[in-house]
Amino acid sequence: MSSPTDLFLSAKRPRIHKSNSGDDIETYENSDLWFDDGNIIIRTVISSERAYTVCKVHKSILASHSNVFHDLFNGPQAAFDVASDRYDGLPVIELPDSPSEVNHFLKALYFPEGFPYKYHGILRLSMKYDVAPLRDQMLDVLRHAWPQYLFDWDYLQKRTEDLEKAYLRRECFDLSFAHPEPGITVRLAMDYNVLDILPTVFYDLLRVHEVIAPNPHEGFRRADLSVLTADDLRRLTQGRGALRGKFLDGITNLLTVLPHDNCKRVPVPGKPSPCRAGLKKWWDVQLGAVTGPSVADPIGWLREKEKVGLCTDMPHDEVCGSCTRVVKKYLQNVREDLWTSLPDFFGLVSTFSPDLPRY
Ligand SMILES: [Zn+2]
Repeated sequence: MSSPTDLFLSAKRPRIHKSNSGDDIETYENSDLWFDDGNIIIRTVISSERAYTVCKVHKSILASHSNVFHDLFNGPQAAFDVASDRYDGLPVIELPDSPSEVNHFLKALYFPEGFPYKYHGILRLSMKYDVAPLRDQMLDVLRHAWPQYLFDWDYLQKRTEDLEKAYLRRECFDLSFAHPEPGITVRLAMDYNVLDILPTVFYDLLRVHEVIAPNPHEGFRRADLSVLTADDLRRLTQGRGALRGKFLDGITNLLTVLPHDNCKRVPVPGKPSPCRAGLKKWWDVQLGAVTGPSVADPIGWLREKEKVGLCTDMPHDEVCGSCTRVVKKYLQNVREDLWTSLPDFFGLVSTFSPDLPRY
């Protein structure tokens, strides 16, 4: 998210105005949200600078979107106008939220075509100020970014990979921009009970967290782990362990599934099935890569293996078609099992079971 500094301080000089108590206060006017015919000042505090940001907007616009503002402006109006602080001759409402969030929130009310890029702050404030259509729109964005069905997740990964390739072609190696930010989203989902997205968000966060030292010439992702609570981090750690355990169990047991009943290759008495021997040779090579970063995304890794099993480097002269189909089906099952176990891996079942999605 943008910081208050880059939004308000870099290009502007503050105006100095007197507070009610006579103190000089630095105030930064937000030129994007400064309407000459506005009739209310929305003020936020830049805590690190002991300064304010202000927006000059319209009571009617806020009230038409927000039940909270509607009630505020249609309450004891005279008392509000007289008692509040004033700026530029207008009454001031000071919001306790961050300047950056308020900026995104108000822009979403005024300029809705700005979706969905800054939706975290917008969701937070649309819930707080009870703007139901905006909240629902933001929830849709989140559910689209972290879908609960594997089919949707796969589709999204394909699209994201294309986007990442486009970034890499332009030598932009920070691929975080191709993804929504999972760290903040975990907190947001926890805080506002958007529980159905949590298994997928935790899984996405796990993929980022595994990347320790980005190579400057390879793509990498960052995630904001600083916002996570001790409980979030515990879920992440336990989830990683459980996921890896089940994944390794699944891929190790692959060799137990052959041969198929309709195997086309006749075994030599006293020797293992020829298809099994061929499969083992191929699979040992695949497993050699599993100690690397691929474990960070076992569901993605298995997706690739499923494809490989069907076409390219599976030695078809050593593994017959029937046995290849068995392998593919087995890998699909392992992958789907991992996906449906995500709520369990991250300890979300017992805590949130009534609200968890039905996979
Ligand atoms: Zn076979």
